[in-house]
Amino acid sequence: MESVNGNEIIQLFESWSPKKYACMPNDPIGLAIGTLNKPISNVLVTLDVTHEVVDEAIAQGCELIIAHHPPIFMKLSNLRTDNPQGALYEKCLKNDIAVYAAHTNLDVAPGGVNDLLADALKLENRQILDHSYDEHMMKLAVFVPTTESEAMREVLAKAGAGRIGNYEACSYTLAGEGRLRALDGANPTVGEVGELHVEREEKVEVVFPSSIKNKVLKAMLNAHSYEEPAYDLMAMEIKTNEQGLGRIGKLKEPMTLKEFAEFVKVQLDVPALRVVGPLDRSVQKVAVVGGDGNKYIKTAKFAGADVFVTGDIGFHMAQDAEVNGLSIVDPGHHVEKVMIKGVADKMTQLCAVKKLPVTFIESNVHTEPFKFI
Ligand SMILES: [Zn+2]
Repeated sequence: MESVNGNEIIQLFESWSPKKYACMPNDPIGLAIGTLNKPISNVLVTLDVTHEVVDEAIAQGCELIIAHHPPIFMKLSNLRTDNPQGALYEKCLKNDIAVYAAHTNLDVAPGGVNDLLADALKLENRQILDHSYDEHMMKLAVFVPTTESEAMREVLAKAGAGRIGNYEACSYTLAGEGRLRALDGANPTVGEVGELHVEREEKVEVVFPSSIKNKVLKAMLNAHSYEEPAYDLMAMEIKTNEQGLGRIGKLKEPMTLKEFAEFVKVQLDVPALRVVGPLDRSVQKVAVVGGDGNKYIKTAKFAGADVFVTGDIGFHMAQDAEVNGLSIVDPGHHVEKVMIKGVADKMTQLCAVKKLPVTFIESNVHTEPFKFI
């Protein structure tokens, strides 16, 4: 059977939902159990990792589980297999099943949990609710002998510099004269020790996101023939990538809070939900945060939301929201299950582009701990 190395699959996943988007301190994301350095043909996508989910992975022949909630959330003080959690890890290891967690980085990623929820609620003119990540552009100007500038432009482009929107290999080159006098002990590429040398040089300028700074610098330094390459490195005000948690957008038509709550029930597939606020109030601007959004009530209010859709709302938080005129619809934490189909679809699409023979299987195990009676 054809298979792909696990690292290749996760590299592709992280090109979409990189770890740098995580917005919780010490969020235990990434590979949690096992190894990725093995052939993988089937991946199970799940919200939670429970015994039933691992059984499902075994039954489906999956070598990897991608989960939203990290299976090892608190630091372990032992690895006993006579308690249910330890036995879960044991079951994964004995069956050679790796578990990879994408938590708040997947909440933030474009097309991740919050976008999937906003899609389900058909929110239009959607924006980020709480900005948590931004990346600035940098500029590198490197001075090279004219004969080397073409090669340098290629090296920089290959390292990812000069990508602007739908353009790549963008650069600017200016010709000039470089002057240098090599001192004793130097091994100059051009000129002689002790003599002032003039060299026809070109200044090659490129921009790139700060996250690839080390890669670009390393490529430039490796390619440059001078013992002491001359270059400028500048931080820029221009932002290249802004991301964040939650989304805010508008319903096509206003509805009453009661109508909206019914709509949420259907769209997010929950049997019941909790509502805060007058049921006849008209709502149109909707903020959404997957999981526990207690911390974002004020953010939703200040962003102008009529109603905030999130889970795990506490009693006093609900009272505060009501006093402040913000309605809340709490469909629970489990609505994050939208990520199962979302991740499976996205990864299937990414792997198809790269022609990687991997199947992504959506978990069918119901991991909602609450029952509504
Ligand atoms: Zn969650």
